[in-house]
Amino acid sequence: MHLKSLTLRGFKSFASATTLQFEPGITCVVGPNGSGKSNVVDALSWVMGEQGAKSLRGGKMEDVIFAGTSGRPPLGRAEVVLTIDNSDGALPIDYTEVTIARTMFRNGGSEYAINGNPARLLDVQELLSDSGIGREMHVIVGQGQLDSILSATPEGRRGFIEEAAGVLKHRKRKEKALRKLEGCEGNLDRLQDLLGEVR
Ligand code: ATP
Repeated sequence: MHLKSLTLRGFKSFASATTLQFEPGITCVVGPNGSGKSNVVDALSWVMGEQGAKSLRGGKMEDVIFAGTSGRPPLGRAEVVLTIDNSDGALPIDYTEVTIARTMFRNGGSEYAINGNPARLLDVQELLSDSGIGREMHVIVGQGQLDSILSATPEGRRGFIEEAAGVLKHRKRKEKALRKLEGCEGNLDRLQDLLGEVR
């Protein structure tokens, strides 16, 4: 599996559609300060489902939409499409090429699509989670992130290790199941009360 291409349209400084092709191996993006190198990396984590505006170096999520320049008005939507070569079947889907798209409108809300079909964030997360490239997988190491790992509390550091080991997905599922169980127990209690009244 390798990343084949990334298309940005209206994402941060990339107002016009821009496609980066990646060959197998190492790709370096070079350019002057402020030319948008980090925006490319932000686009990668955004299309994989990043939810935190801060992780994308913005104040709010809409900051990913092209905000305009002196010569160009702001845009109303941002779109990023990531194409992954899946000929080795690393992603659990029956396609040798997989595209993941995320679109966001200025009035809020994100839409996702997998191979052109509308999808939920959860679908994107589940598709990527076993491949090791998903959100929170620490495949994207931002500036200053190493410092935050080194200065993390033992609990924080455990969190990083759990994420890297893929335990996080199961922890989240467990938390969801426990919440459902709590709801069921509440319903059972109410049922017992009602039965007590009827008897
Ligand atoms: P450095 O080498 O200094 O780290 P860089 O090449 O990584 O720089 P980026 O941080 O990717 O540069 O890009 C910064 C540029 O992106 C700034 O000029 C900023 O104005 C522009 N930018 C960020 N968000 C938006 C947005 N929503 N709309 C328009 N331009 C944006």
